[in-house]
Amino acid sequence: MSFDLKSLVRKHILTVKPYSSARDEYEGEQGIFLDANENTIGSTTTDGLYNRYPDPLQWEVKRELSKLKNIPSKQIFLGNGSDEPIDLLVRAFCEPYQDNIIQMPPTYGMYQVSADINVVKTIDVHLSADFELDASKVLAAVTPATKIIFVCSPNNPTGNNLNRNEILTLIKSFSGLVVVDEAYIDFSTQASLLSEIATNPNLIVLQTFSKAWGLANLRLGMAFGSEEVIGVMNRIKPPYNINGVTQQLALDALKNADLKDQMVKSIVAEREKLAKAFLKFPFVTKIYPSDTNFILLKTVDAMSIYKQLVAQQVIVRNRNTVVLCEGCLRITVGTAAENEILLTALAKCS
Ligand SMILES: *Cc1c(COP(=O)(O)O)cnc(C)c1O
Repeated sequence: MSFDLKSLVRKHILTVKPYSSARDEYEGEQGIFLDANENTIGSTTTDGLYNRYPDPLQWEVKRELSKLKNIPSKQIFLGNGSDEPIDLLVRAFCEPYQDNIIQMPPTYGMYQVSADINVVKTIDVHLSADFELDASKVLAAVTPATKIIFVCSPNNPTGNNLNRNEILTLIKSFSGLVVVDEAYIDFSTQASLLSEIATNPNLIVLQTFSKAWGLANLRLGMAFGSEEVIGVMNRIKPPYNINGVTQQLALDALKNADLKDQMVKSIVAEREKLAKAFLKFPFVTKIYPSDTNFILLKTVDAMSIYKQLVAQQVIVRNRNTVVLCEGCLRITVGTAAENEILLTALAKCS
């Protein structure tokens, strides 16, 4: 399929003049900076200086990420969580009241929310009963107004990887954008689709610092894609969307990728222990395989188990009302100590 960004993006996006910040116009590092109306004396915090605006395009962080992911810096976008690139892509590519996106429920809720906020229609192509993706079903649902297909793999809330060849079929056959959300890729046995970016200009891969990297509080998400698509996102993003403290801490974290890998190992080991332990509860009817840091469980009565756990101050996610997830609870893998408490609490449920 040929990919033509100009015909895909909303017309005005390419002509709108982006805000040019002081830091965009002069990029040198030496000099007296009287160009951005900052407080030149200092900050009101007890320690630390935060009086200067941060790098709007986060080049230092991108340089390090580029090495780690083997993707050129210009093909990286950083957002306020992955939720920001999801929203920016919908806004840049989908004409309100006219265009649509395709998603595969049960899946992550933000695709729907971003579409709804932007008055963009969603076409739902459900995963199969065992949560598999059928590319031919998705492609059959595509209309001339379909601009983005959102694929979540490993998928939330089901926990499984979607079949790589099916995803690749979507990317090769669809002339719009395919966004593959890899929030849980570090926990997965399947390789990332990042390696496909160089040859597929319509592919955008989303990853995040919120899960394996242990930085949910910072709100830092990554999007990887063709220079063209990343350029569109940069045109419309808020000028200083990633604050300087987050940029500093991301640089620090990137030096500790081995610590992330160690934590992933422990979490995966705990996940496998939990999955085995869940087998013994009579109210658990199915434990879904997981390539993430959570486990989806089918139970005879999710609401009842959920409430009995809450009464014991153990909070899990009730997915009972989600399509194809009737009776399901989604449980994040805790620390070894937390998992003990969870299992003790479950043993008291009936
Ligand atoms: C947690 C999660 C994200 C990450 O969102 P952030 O905004 O980066 O915290 C993205 N996609 C999925 C499927 C998730 O579960």
